Amino acid sequence: MNLRSRLSVRQKAVAVAGASALVAAGLVTIPASVAQAAPGCSVTYSTNQWQGGFSANITIRNVGDAINGWTLRFSFADANQRVTQGWSANWTQSGTQVTATNVSWNGNLATGASTGIGFNGSWNGSNPAPTSFSVNGTACNGTTPTDPPTGNPTNPPTGNPTSNPAARVDNPYAGASGYVNPEWKAKAESVSGGNRISNTPTGVWLDRIAAIEGTPDSSSNGPMGLRDHLDEALAQGAGYIQVVIYNLPGRDCAALASNGELKADELPKYKTEYIDPIAAIMADSKYSSLRIITIIEIDSLPNLVTNVAPRETATAQCDTMKANGNYVKGVGYALAKLGAVPNVYNYIDAGHHGWIGWDDNFRASAQIFAEAARAEGSTQANVHGFIANTANYSATLEPYLNVTEQNRLSKWIDYNRYVDEQRFAQALRTELVSQGFSSGIGMLIDTSRNGWGGSDRPTGPVTSGTVDEQVDGSRIDQRIHLGNWCNQSGAGLGERPRAAPASGIDAYVWIKPPGESDGSSTEIENDEGKGFDRMCDPTYTGNPRNQNNMSGALSGAPISGAWFPAQLTELMQNAYPAL
Ligand code: BGC
Repeated sequence: MNLRSRLSVRQKAVAVAGASALVAAGLVTIPASVAQAAPGCSVTYSTNQWQGGFSANITIRNVGDAINGWTLRFSFADANQRVTQGWSANWTQSGTQVTATNVSWNGNLATGASTGIGFNGSWNGSNPAPTSFSVNGTACNGTTPTDPPTGNPTNPPTGNPTSNPAARVDNPYAGASGYVNPEWKAKAESVSGGNRISNTPTGVWLDRIAAIEGTPDSSSNGPMGLRDHLDEALAQGAGYIQVVIYNLPGRDCAALASNGELKADELPKYKTEYIDPIAAIMADSKYSSLRIITIIEIDSLPNLVTNVAPRETATAQCDTMKANGNYVKGVGYALAKLGAVPNVYNYIDAGHHGWIGWDDNFRASAQIFAEAARAEGSTQANVHGFIANTANYSATLEPYLNVTEQNRLSKWIDYNRYVDEQRFAQALRTELVSQGFSSGIGMLIDTSRNGWGGSDRPTGPVTSGTVDEQVDGSRIDQRIHLGNWCNQSGAGLGERPRAAPASGIDAYVWIKPPGESDGSSTEIENDEGKGFDRMCDPTYTGNPRNQNNMSGALSGAPISGAWFPAQLTELMQNAYPAL
């Protein structure tokens, strides 16, 4: 993948004429969508205890849609509380975390049904009841330990799920565990030390029509199709799964390594053979308990701002996609279709600071996002948030660098308003709200490969020398140029995924699966539509989009999406935080 920086020509801030006239159309009402049962559960927990030992009875009641298979999770408050032997479930404990999964006869729970399970345990010191429980990643309400168990599976549920509106939670990452893609996990574990990170949730990329059913013969994906992943997510008891929607007509118009299968004019095919079947699968009520996070179309909309005529960075394909409107229409269609599924959370790709952090790209990009979100019958209410840095290498935070009028003159910053993704994402969020998106939108940052640890990492700011010496000595991002995007040498794994790390940020996520290539270092024949982009060739001396710098790419890389174990080894070595 991608995310070439597509720098605009080096420029001063361009005053935006008439900007004050805009905004506040603000029509972000939630569409009156079909009533849909939300996932929901209620758990009761009661104990009999004696000195050093206890026995616990738990009733799990399903107050959401019917479920087929469940995982109950809770934590003990005291490190000495242990499950010693349990019944009617498979019990495991790791630290204070306890997990129970269904056995063969009690996995199906209709709406309103309940099941009783239990265990014997030991304690030392104190034996408090756990205070929160989750089933299949959804926090259970009303989990007061003193609730009497109903013991009557035919009791109606306390809530009335069928009359609940399709209430999306504000932050789908909060309190939920993420789906681990078994195909990536196996690849990660094939590399020495990979088992340290292989249980990390990563994006499932639907990068071609065939990926919906599974692609046993492709070098970029495996045999699991979308349904297989969703079924496996239920089996894992995951609360959320991340699916990348990535197949626009004329895909990736400013680069070659991730060109796709659909030609510039194949919007009808995109709709009927790609988006419609995906939406139909996601709408299956079997999956309604999962929060399905969709990452919408990397490498597209900002190109319509930065890589079109009359800019020096223009490409013919980006001019075509701007003229035919198929990026805007495709994104609008995807948002409308997927946004109609109540448990889908759409996050639009918003490039990264080294792409749209310049004044003349920033608002213009937000405006194109708003235009796309209103295209093809969509409204801005279909957008839950945006993601920055997908498959790119920009640091989440530059701890030793701020943007000042002086260091904006440096070659590295080059008049950009930002030096890192978090401050960029927070500012972009404000701009997006002013362009009519809901004030509740949240941002994601792909931190899969932006750690920049290792021995070259600075340990403090450099405050003497020229502006360039100060900036270059202080920055943790070690790229030759901010516009470099392919298999960057020296990069490391970034922050591990976590929810709500900072104001306005829903989560740090790993969307690009570490160890999957961004593009081949030399030309490699393939039947996936992938071209050869010399930005992936370590001997390449660059183009206007990276201001004619060396590419900084690793050698020996296979085509984009294919497994590149040497890269994972380096990413682990340079991980920050270290593994
Ligand atoms: C490739 C996709 C791949 C994705 C994740 C992209 O660069 O074009 O085929 O699925 O990266 O590795």
